[in-house]
Amino acid sequence: NIFHSLRPPIALPSPHLSINAADHAFSLLRQSLSDSLHTTTTAFIDSATARRLSYADFLRRVGSLSSALQSGLGLSKGDTAFVLSPTCLEIPILYFSLLSLGVAFSPANPLSTPAEISRQIQISKSCIAFATKATAPNLPTSTSSTTSLRHPTVLIDSDEFHSMMTAEAGVVGPAAAAAADQGDTAAILFSSGTTGPMKGVELTHRNLIAALSMPPPKRTREENVHLLPVTLFHSSGVMWCLMGVVKGATTVLMTGRLDLEEMLKAVEEYGATSIPMVPPLGVAMATQGVVEKYNLSSLRTVVYGGAPLGKDMSERFAARFPHLLLLQVYGFTESGYGLAMMVGPEEAKRHGSVGKLIPNVEAKIVDPATGLALPPGSQGEMWCRSPGVMKGYVGDEGATATAFDLHGWLKTGDLCVIDDEGFVYIVDRLKELIKYKADQVPPAELEHLLLSHPDIVDSAVIPYPDEEAGQIPMAFVVRQPGSAISEAQVPPFKKVRRVAFIGSIPKTPSGKTMRKELRDFALTAYSP
Ligand code: AMP
Repeated sequence: NIFHSLRPPIALPSPHLSINAADHAFSLLRQSLSDSLHTTTTAFIDSATARRLSYADFLRRVGSLSSALQSGLGLSKGDTAFVLSPTCLEIPILYFSLLSLGVAFSPANPLSTPAEISRQIQISKSCIAFATKATAPNLPTSTSSTTSLRHPTVLIDSDEFHSMMTAEAGVVGPAAAAAADQGDTAAILFSSGTTGPMKGVELTHRNLIAALSMPPPKRTREENVHLLPVTLFHSSGVMWCLMGVVKGATTVLMTGRLDLEEMLKAVEEYGATSIPMVPPLGVAMATQGVVEKYNLSSLRTVVYGGAPLGKDMSERFAARFPHLLLLQVYGFTESGYGLAMMVGPEEAKRHGSVGKLIPNVEAKIVDPATGLALPPGSQGEMWCRSPGVMKGYVGDEGATATAFDLHGWLKTGDLCVIDDEGFVYIVDRLKELIKYKADQVPPAELEHLLLSHPDIVDSAVIPYPDEEAGQIPMAFVVRQPGSAISEAQVPPFKKVRRVAFIGSIPKTPSGKTMRKELRDFALTAYSP
C-alpha cells in the first residue's frame, strides 16, 4: 500500500557531487535562459517602487555580495544567517549569496515579538542577523551573553549593504563558493510541525536541489511572469523565489500590503501570468466585486495552497474565471517542495482535490490507530518520503524522532484519501497547527501564554472556522472565580480571536487535551 508518484521521475545529480543549491540553480538557469538574454530579461521587480533587476544585475550582485560576506565578514560554510525583513529585492540576492557560500539562511516573520526572535536565533544558532532599520531594534544585541550572534547586524536597507552588492563585479563560481556537501544545511525555516511550539526545519542543499530540479511546465517566455503575494520567510515564498530563477522567469515581489486590490493592480501593471495564492486572497478573488475593475487578461495560472480551499469555493473560482487554471498544490514546510499538485486543465476540474503526487514523492495512508498502511480510497494520515523532505528539526532529536517513523516516513499530520486514480484529497488536519490566513499559529504557544496569567487555571486553543482567515484561534479558558483577563503579548496573527469560558478542559486519561472533541463542541455550541 505505498503510493508512488504517477508522474515520470526526475533525475537528480549524484548525491556525492559537491554542489550547492545556488550553483545548481544557476546551471539550470543557463538552460532556461541563454547568457545573451541575461541583460534584457528582468529577474525581479519590486511591485511598490517598480524597481527592476535584470538577470545580469542579479547575478553580479549575488557574486559581489558573496565575496563581501566571505572576505569582509568572514562568513563560511557551516554558519547560519538569521534574516528578519519584510519582502524586498535584496532578499533573493541575499538567499542566493548565502547558499553559494554554504551559509544556511534562516528567515523569520518580521512581525515576531522580540522573545520569539531570540528563541528563533537560539534554535537556528545564527551567528549573524540581516535585518532592516525597522526590524533591527527587535533583535537581541550581539553582546548579550545568551545569544549566538557574534557579528554586528547587517542592515539590508543601508548604503553599506548596497556597496557590498555592487562593489566588485564578482562572479559566483566554484572559486568563490565553498565546496558544499549536498547534505549541508541550506535553510532553517520555522514551523510547529504536528505538535508543540516552534521548531527549526532543517533543509539541506540536497532538499533544495530536489525542489529546484522539478521540470518547469512548458511555457513561452512571455508567460513566465510570477507575482508573489506571499511572504519570503515561509517555505512557499522561498521555493517560488528560488524556482523563478531556475526558470529564468520574471518574479514580481509584492513589497507593499498583501491584499486583493494591491495584487490586482500588480497583475495589471506587470502582466503577471502566474500567482501562488493563499486562502484569504483566493476567497477574495472568487467573491469580491473589485476584481472587475482590473485587466487580468495576462493571467493564466493561479496556484493555490497553504490551507484548504473547499470544493464550493474552488468551483466558484472556476466559474468566475473560466479562462484561468486554478491549480491546487499541497505540501508543508517539513516536506521541502510540495507533495501533491494539479497539472493541466483536466486535473484542475477535480475540485476538492489537491491533484496527484509530485515527481519523486512516495506516500502512505496510515490508520492513525493501528499504524497500518491502507489501500486506495481509505481515509488516514498521510506519510511521505521524497528527496525534498527535511533532514529534521535542528538541534531537537526528540521532535525529529516523533516526526518520522523508523523507516524514514515523515508524518504530515493531515487526514487524507488517495483515490484509485491517484488524486489526493485533504479531509482534515489531525495536527494541532492552526493556520490563520497563511500564518502558522501553534496552539501550544498560546496555551503557554494563557497559563502564564495568574487568573487562568487551564486552557486549550483550537482552530475555529472563519470564511476570510480560514481559521481563527479560539481559546477555551478555565479561570479563577471572579477574575478578569488582560490581553497577552503576541504578534497580531497569533491573537486569540474568540474566547469561551469553560468549567474544565476535557483531557484523555494521560492528560492530553481532547482537541477534536473541543473543536466539535465549539462548532455546535458557538455556530459560525
Ligand atoms: P505550512 O507548514 O505552514 O506550509 O503548513 C502546511 C499545512 O497546511 C499542511 O500540513 C496542511 O494542513 C495545510 N495545507 C497546505 N496546503 C493545503 C491545501 N492545498 N489544501 C489543504 N490544506 C493544505
